[in-house]
Amino acid sequence: MSSSVNETLIRDVVAEVLGRLGKSPPAAASVPSASATAVTKPGTAGRHFGVFQEAPAACEAAAAAFRQLQEKGVAARAKVVEIVKTLAEANAVEWGRLELEETKIGRLDHKIEKLKIIKLVPGVEWLRPVARSGDHGITLEEFTPFGVIGAITPSTHSIPTLSGNVVNIVAAGNAVVFNAHPSACRCAALAVRTYNQAIEREVGIENLITIIEQPTLDSFKALCGHEAVRLLCVTGGPGVVKAAMQTGKRAICAGPGNPPVLVDDTADLERAARAVVQGAAYDNNLLCIGEKEVFVLESVADRFLAELQRHGAVRLTADQLERLTREAFSFPAGHGAGCPEPVVNKQLIGKDATHLARVAGATVPDPTQLLFAETEASHVFVAEEQMMPFLPIVRVKSVAEGIAAAKAAEHNYRHTAIIHSHNVEHMTAMGRALDTTLFVKNGPCVAGLGLGGEGYLSYSIATPTGEGVTNPATFTRVRRCVMVDNLRIY
Ligand code: NAD
Repeated sequence: MSSSVNETLIRDVVAEVLGRLGKSPPAAASVPSASATAVTKPGTAGRHFGVFQEAPAACEAAAAAFRQLQEKGVAARAKVVEIVKTLAEANAVEWGRLELEETKIGRLDHKIEKLKIIKLVPGVEWLRPVARSGDHGITLEEFTPFGVIGAITPSTHSIPTLSGNVVNIVAAGNAVVFNAHPSACRCAALAVRTYNQAIEREVGIENLITIIEQPTLDSFKALCGHEAVRLLCVTGGPGVVKAAMQTGKRAICAGPGNPPVLVDDTADLERAARAVVQGAAYDNNLLCIGEKEVFVLESVADRFLAELQRHGAVRLTADQLERLTREAFSFPAGHGAGCPEPVVNKQLIGKDATHLARVAGATVPDPTQLLFAETEASHVFVAEEQMMPFLPIVRVKSVAEGIAAAKAAEHNYRHTAIIHSHNVEHMTAMGRALDTTLFVKNGPCVAGLGLGGEGYLSYSIATPTGEGVTNPATFTRVRRCVMVDNLRIY
C-alpha cells in the first residue's frame, strides 16, 4: 500500500473517531491537508468527504448526492440541517480559532458567535406549499429543488457563510458545490469534511456538500460552467458579483455594502451610540451590514460623540486620522484623496482597533473595540467599504442633507441603511431615498438579521439581484400541480 493511501486511511479513521465524538479533525497545521483524502473518482477506494481537487469531479459528486437526497426525501433534508446546526455549534470555538488563524481578520469572540448562531438560519420548516381549492378542483404550488447549486463564499465569514448556505440549500432539497475564498479555504474544507462525515454516517449520502480544496479563478469558471450546476449563490464584493452575472447562469448575488447611519435630533442618543458601537465593532467591522459611516445632526453631534466615548469608542485627533488614512488607502497614480477609486490596504482590513490606533500614532486602552473621528462627507473613509473598526462621523445641518449624504455613501448598492430617530417621517424619507434591502431603525445592524430584531438569520443577503435575506425558498423552483375535478365538499 502506498504511503499516501496509508495516510489517507489513518486520517479517515482519526476523522471518523473524532466525528463520533462530535469533534472536528485537528487543524490543517497538524493534519495532512484535505487533499490527502481527495481522489478524483467517487465510489472508488478513496473517500472524499466532499473535498475535491477539481471542479468537475466536485460537481458530478454533488449531482449524484442530489439524486440520493431526492430518494430519501424531506426527512433526510431535515436531518442534514440538524447535523450542520449541531456541528457548527459544537465546533464553534475550534473552527472560529482556525478561521481567525487562517484569515487573520476579525475577532475570535465574534467568529465563535457567528457559528453558534447558525441554528437561527431557517430550515425545511420554512417551505410550506400553497394550496388553492375552488369549483374547478385543487391546485398545489410546491417549492422544489433545482439540483446542484454553486456557491462562492467570502473571506470575512468563511465557515459561517458556508454553513448558513448549506442549511438553506439542503433544506430546499439541493446539493451544493463551494468555491471558497483562497485565504479562507482550509477552514472551509475542514468544515465540509466534518459535515460530510456525519451526513454519510447518519443519512447515508456521500458528498452532499462538496468543495474545491484549492479554489482559483479557473475553478470558479469551471464550477459556474458545469452543466450540473443550475443556480449560483455568490457572496462577496463587486468583482465576484460582476463575474457571476457574466457566466450566463442565474445568480443570486449577495453583494457589497457600505451602510450609512443617520442620527437625528429626536433619537435616544445613548441608545444610538450603544447600537452603533455594537454593530461597527462586530468582528472588527467585517460585516457587510456593519455601520460604516455616521451622519449626525449638528445640534446633537457633541452629545452623540460623548455617548460614543461613554460606550468605549475612542476618538482620534485630526492628525491621527490623517496618519491612519495615509496608511489605510493608497491612491493610484493620477488620483488624489477623495478620488472615486482608492485602494484599501488589505493589511488593515479586519484588524483590531488597538492595532489601527498604533498605526494612527494613538495610545488607547486595551481592549478598545472601536475608533472614530470627525470627517467631511467626501472623506475616503466615508466613501469606501473599508471593513475596519474605525468610524467616520460627519456633522450635517439637516435631515435632508444627511439623507443625501447617506445615499451617496451607499453607492446605490441597496444593501443596508440605519437610522436612529423617533420621527416616522424621517424614517420614511430615508427608507424611500436609499431603497436598501435592510433598513434598521433604532437598533444595531445585526437587528436586521434577527439578532435583537424580529426576523431570521442568513449570511448571504442578496442585494443586487433582489432576493433579500436568503432562506430555503430562495433556492427553489415553484412548481404547480393541478387536479381538475369537482372536489369541494362544502
Ligand atoms: P471578495 O469579493 O474578495 O471575495 C468573495 C468571493 O469571491 C471569494 O470566494 C473570492 O475568491 C471570489 N472572487 C473575488 N473576485 C472574483 C472574480 N473576479 N471571479 C471569481 N471569483 C471571485 O470579498 P471578501 O473580501 O471575501 O468579502 C467581503 C465582501 O463581500 C464585501 O464587499 C462585503 O460587503 C461582501 N459581503 C456581502 C455579503 C452579503 O450578504 N451581501 C455577505 C458577506 C460579505
